Amino acid sequence: MSFGLPYGVFSRPGEPRRVGVRVDDRVLDLAAALGDEVFAAPSLNPFMALGRTAWRAARRRVEAAVRESTAGDLIPLGEVTPHLPVDVADYVDFYASLDHASALGRILRPGEEPLKPNWRHLPVGYHGRAGTVVVSGTPIRRPCGQRPPSAPGGRPSFGPSLRLDIEAELGFVVGTPTGPGERPGAFEDHVFGVALVNDWSARDIQAWEYVPLGPFLGKSFATSISPWITPLDALEGARVDGPAQDPEPLPYLRRSAPWGLDLTLTVELNGEPVSAPPYRGMYWTPDQMLAHMTVNGARLRTGDLFASGTVSGPDDPGSLIELTRNGAEPLTLANGETRTFLDDGDTVTVHAVTRDGIRLAGVSGTIVPAT
Ligand code: CA
Repeated sequence: MSFGLPYGVFSRPGEPRRVGVRVDDRVLDLAAALGDEVFAAPSLNPFMALGRTAWRAARRRVEAAVRESTAGDLIPLGEVTPHLPVDVADYVDFYASLDHASALGRILRPGEEPLKPNWRHLPVGYHGRAGTVVVSGTPIRRPCGQRPPSAPGGRPSFGPSLRLDIEAELGFVVGTPTGPGERPGAFEDHVFGVALVNDWSARDIQAWEYVPLGPFLGKSFATSISPWITPLDALEGARVDGPAQDPEPLPYLRRSAPWGLDLTLTVELNGEPVSAPPYRGMYWTPDQMLAHMTVNGARLRTGDLFASGTVSGPDDPGSLIELTRNGAEPLTLANGETRTFLDDGDTVTVHAVTRDGIRLAGVSGTIVPAT
């Protein structure tokens, strides 16, 4: 198992941020190792903007530098501070899991058809808040907001969210931009790499506010992302065809290459695994998400982040609202405590590994009390 040489941004005490590559539990300082100033930047954006030819050339140089490195060239992970690896431009969040969308539909709209009529025709998504994407390890402050009335026709209350949840997702980071109105070319020419994402969600705020315009403050308080971005080239062995789609999507959404990914996430609550969602079954693949989010002429910018939406399998959901059936069936942890949603002090970590043993660096966050 290896981490596939993911890229990130780190600093050492008193020194500026710079780009490094993770080699198991150590970091190679790329500006120093390769003598290339593009890596002396405080984010991956300047490197990602160079495009795929440069990414592949850099990867060959990185692999050679790692092979030739000695222990003295590599900095122990514990001696560096990881930072947000990407200056996030726009953040789009999809809803690409059939199992998750069906389960949420049954919970939020009981008695109705769980999937809306559009769901199998387009990857449903919304624009999130780029400015609150935070690096793994950043404490997550419990949000306050309007909570739904306790009875139909009643008034909402204001206060800390009582139903704070997670969404275990896979995020895709755009490197190569497009101009306004310009449709992107091949997926791999624009998307630089992937990272695990936890899209924290306040279910009570969300349930009250989302009609009719969709997610807003229940989602925008924080989205955590792994400090390490795994380049697409490291995921070649995980690529699979996406699931069959019925009905066949419109031509602009038809797949031309296998961009399903065979990897399994692990969700840990206070160190205890509580679910292992499989990514492979995600109904909409990321090439389809990219095609959809640009089909109207919206341009891509370096640093755009689009996330898959909660990764859920039939038996392994990526959210507590599914795991506990909207709080009706609390989880019992190994220490005897129970949870429906998150308590202050809880730590959630999401890991993943591909079928060929490439690990994605984890994303973690701890809940701190509301102010
Ligand atoms: Ca989400």
